[in-house]
Amino acid sequence: MSGTILLTGGAGYIGSHTYVALKRAGYEVVILDNFANARDDVPDRLEVITGAPVTLHRADVLDKAAVAEVFRAHKIDAVVHFAAKKAVGESQKIPLEYIETNCTGLVNLLMAMRDAGVFKIVFSSSATVYAETEDWPIPESAPLGYASTYALTKLMGEQIITQAAGSDDRWRHGILRYFNPAGAHDSALIGEDPQDIPNNLMPYIAKVAVGELPELNIFGNDYPTPDGTGVRDYIHVMDLAEGHVKSLDALMAGGDSHIVNLGTGKGYSVMDMLASYSRACGRDLPYKVTPRRAGDLACYYGDPSKARALLGWEVARDLDDMCQTSWNWISRRSNMRAG
Ligand code: UDP
Repeated sequence: MSGTILLTGGAGYIGSHTYVALKRAGYEVVILDNFANARDDVPDRLEVITGAPVTLHRADVLDKAAVAEVFRAHKIDAVVHFAAKKAVGESQKIPLEYIETNCTGLVNLLMAMRDAGVFKIVFSSSATVYAETEDWPIPESAPLGYASTYALTKLMGEQIITQAAGSDDRWRHGILRYFNPAGAHDSALIGEDPQDIPNNLMPYIAKVAVGELPELNIFGNDYPTPDGTGVRDYIHVMDLAEGHVKSLDALMAGGDSHIVNLGTGKGYSVMDMLASYSRACGRDLPYKVTPRRAGDLACYYGDPSKARALLGWEVARDLDDMCQTSWNWISRRSNMRAG
């Protein structure tokens, strides 16, 4: 496919991997990122991976003038929108900031798109938009709800887009609800790189593996799961990135708006993750079992069959690939900082 894509949040974890996948698929890409949660050297690394210069606007989605300027400077054909705040715990502490960035930022973007005559958007949503359920795997038709301000902003984001679409039939959207992204690009030049102590399992294990944190705290081993630890649907970030390309390809080819899960349909436990990561880094990683984390569910995994049927998207990588590429990236990054 060809066309010029505005990629907001393109220097972040999933955004940077999607940049690589979009370029490989033949798209021109313009990144808009404020680097609030991205390292300054990501664009240079994207240039090394893709062998081409990166077009970057360093700006905030809340800056309406800067967003409009991107559409004046480039002939944009479609938008892939990642720029958002994403920490569930933090969203409970600063809900208004989350609503401002994630919802007002989206509205600014949609208005700039409309004013520039651009009506195709792929939106980074989340499986947190599903109401609590015991019915796994979760299909897209499952009841919606939210248990955090973060989840609320993603649910509102979906609704803001569908409301806009209802007013003008030129709009086409791909709303992608992802499960738990993990892993890194094969080059080990980009990956997840949290600046603080991570809340999520994979980046936490990665920091234990490189010795930046002493041990993993396993939040409960008395859940009704095969080994008692929490089960989630981890998906390789490059599979996720390729899901965005498939969604965009469908919209660019004149396809209909869609809402799909991007997950593997398989659940892995905390112990499965730890075992796979231990294999990847070549040593048994230390852990201790602590009480359950408030609000955690025993099990959470998605039904990806709609994405397969509609977009022809399927995951190509497994849990060991996620852990191995995460380890390759984190150990290299850690050595570079130390050196
Ligand atoms: N988890 C854990 N220790 C950690 C972080 C997470 O045991 O330091 C567990 C958590 O209880 C859950 C799974 O790992 O069962 C995934 O947690 P994460 O926060 O990564 O994703 P989410 O719960 O938001 O799906």
